[in-house]
Amino acid sequence: MRGEERICCVGAGLSGAVIARVLAEHGYAVLVAEARGHIAGNCHTERDPATGVMVHRYGPHIFHTDNEKVWRFICRFGDMRPYVHRVKAIAGGRVYSLPINLHTINQFFDTCMSPKEARAFLQSQARSEISTPRNFEEQALALIGERLYVAFFRGYTKKQWGREPSTLPASVLKRLPVRFNYEDSYFDHRYQAIPAEGYTNIVARILDHPLIELRCNCSFEELTETFRHVFWSGPIDRWFGERAGRLAYRTLDFERIETDGDFQGTAVMNYCDETVPFTRISEHKHFMPWEKEHLPRTVAFREYAREAGPSDIPFYPVRLAEEERQLAAYVSLAWQSKGVTFVGRLGTYRYLDMDQAIAEALAVGEAAAEQFAASIEPPPFFHDRKP
Ligand code: UDP
Repeated sequence: MRGEERICCVGAGLSGAVIARVLAEHGYAVLVAEARGHIAGNCHTERDPATGVMVHRYGPHIFHTDNEKVWRFICRFGDMRPYVHRVKAIAGGRVYSLPINLHTINQFFDTCMSPKEARAFLQSQARSEISTPRNFEEQALALIGERLYVAFFRGYTKKQWGREPSTLPASVLKRLPVRFNYEDSYFDHRYQAIPAEGYTNIVARILDHPLIELRCNCSFEELTETFRHVFWSGPIDRWFGERAGRLAYRTLDFERIETDGDFQGTAVMNYCDETVPFTRISEHKHFMPWEKEHLPRTVAFREYAREAGPSDIPFYPVRLAEEERQLAAYVSLAWQSKGVTFVGRLGTYRYLDMDQAIAEALAVGEAAAEQFAASIEPPPFFHDRKP
């Protein structure tokens, strides 16, 4: 072990676990303190006792990346099985395929357009006067026009974010492509997979190192030990006692459905109409096609999004003007702090995918290991949060 005092990673999600692993492999002893009773944060998976289905307790998590380093890293800790995610969506009483592709367009407009025709048609629908979209709604109108926007995005987005799409950042929509071919894979990435034994198993193996001690049901406040440095993957506002106000997060409620056989025939069905109160239904056995034949029963979950209260689990950071102001206050407090680095989706208050969280955690762990070796204190942020 290098040095006297241990390092603490607060949170046993992907960020905390990966940083702990990298540091342990560089010879540093790490305590990972997790407030919940389980590891793997919001990508936690467990076998549903009633059906035997591997359930993503906090909603569907599909691993997808173009990052070779991240892919190699995760494959060290478990069998990642190829899985191509395809999403269906119900809008106005009909089923379509998402993200919007040539099939969606032809079904929706009752046409047989070629890629070229569809492109020209959507251009005629799109609001060409919006040259620099300032928000989600403008981005959608400029890209696909009013009819597709209203059918697929307006209602869903209002339910998901609890806000008017005209007040949301355009970046949220940029997560989804529009395709002028019949490619209906939800993601474009080279590697798309689901762990054969679940994400929790992967995280357990990441944490399985002689220099890592894991403590679940342990909040940072109850620790009496002093640490050489803390990597905080909890909400940044909580570290500072919410003194600049509580940052807004969306949380999800899940309503369980259990039946025989196959409930909806696919892993994820989005419900785009505003009149339907939930956003989507996920049927988890379809995430593991290699084992679903052996499972006679099935379990699915309706997802309802709402504003997170103080005791709710935060899922999605809401980044509107007010939150950006609060965040700026926390960022400046962070740059005045010593001994702590903020990491991950909650620590940096960003909409991060799993592969981005792992990529950043690898970079943070490696940079911090070098800094510890040179007796330099790691900074409060390693990514784009400037003082
Ligand atoms: N979205 C939508 N309709 C859909 C799917 C997505 O309006 O059927 C919008 C919605 O605002 C959502 C965003 O696109 O928050 C990003 O979607 P994604 O599927 O990436 O969300 P996640 O799986 O992270 O919840």
